[in-house]
Amino acid sequence: MRIITKSKEVGFCYGVKNAINIVQNLLKNETIPKPIYLLGNLVHNHHINEYFKEVGITILHGDSRLQMLDQIKEGTVIFTAHGVSEKVRKKAISLGLHIVDATCPYVKLTIQKMEKAIQDNHEILFVGKFNHPEVETALSLSKKVFLVDNNTQNLTLKKPLLCHQTTMSSYDIEEIYTKLKATFSNLEKMDMICKVSEKRQQSLLDLKNHHFQLPALIIIIGDKTSNNSTKLYEMAKRINQCDTLFIDNILELHFLKLKKYKEIILYSGTSTPEAITNELYDLLIHLDDITKNQVASILTLKDYIK
Ligand code: SF4
Repeated sequence: MRIITKSKEVGFCYGVKNAINIVQNLLKNETIPKPIYLLGNLVHNHHINEYFKEVGITILHGDSRLQMLDQIKEGTVIFTAHGVSEKVRKKAISLGLHIVDATCPYVKLTIQKMEKAIQDNHEILFVGKFNHPEVETALSLSKKVFLVDNNTQNLTLKKPLLCHQTTMSSYDIEEIYTKLKATFSNLEKMDMICKVSEKRQQSLLDLKNHHFQLPALIIIIGDKTSNNSTKLYEMAKRINQCDTLFIDNILELHFLKLKKYKEIILYSGTSTPEAITNELYDLLIHLDDITKNQVASILTLKDYIK
């Protein structure tokens, strides 16, 4: 008998739900100035972004949010869940655009905390993925914000403070903090890990005490550009007894090859539509009954967020 478990924490986090609700309500409002632009992807999940493209929203891409604004002449601009800097906000206002802010409330809070730390004369060492919107926003706050890289140890800092993207793993941050502390003895750190991400990471770490039915597999479902999904995958790989897979949706699975597993556990990122996880769970429950021909007919991509 195969054990199939779905993590308790699946589906959208409140930040993603909030962003999607804001845009869906906006679409219902006929008085909203058109065209409507998204300043980058609303969240890091292509199913969601493709849906908004289908309903007529233009998603802008570019090297920075400031540059993306140059592509807009009129209409409405939506700030994505990852937040924007004051410079971007002011530029959008000066362009006379109608602004809709879908920034996650938690991200907003972390930006305010960093602004306060800068006012208190801290220099910020920021850990994050180059080009990620949260990194872009942090770096735009002040010249006293530095992205942590190989040259960080050469900086001369008086009051360094370690900050980071909200979806980093506590493992990574502890490791980087310990390393940098050897150079900057007075280094402080700000806890910025989003509690939703942390809870999902913690439930994965708890699997270290779990008695698996072997062979076992952990599947992380999420977009490959999603930082929190990637972090879940990296953590899952630390659980040595299990195989791990990181997939976007059921189309990426070889169902017949999964039959060898006695236990399969599903986790998902905070921007992964719950329907994708549920669909996979339902299929895995009936895994032994699935034949090669049925797999082909099952694999028709669903509309996950409508
Ligand atoms: S993962 Fe956390 S920080 Fe990111 S959007 Fe969701 S609630 Fe906000």
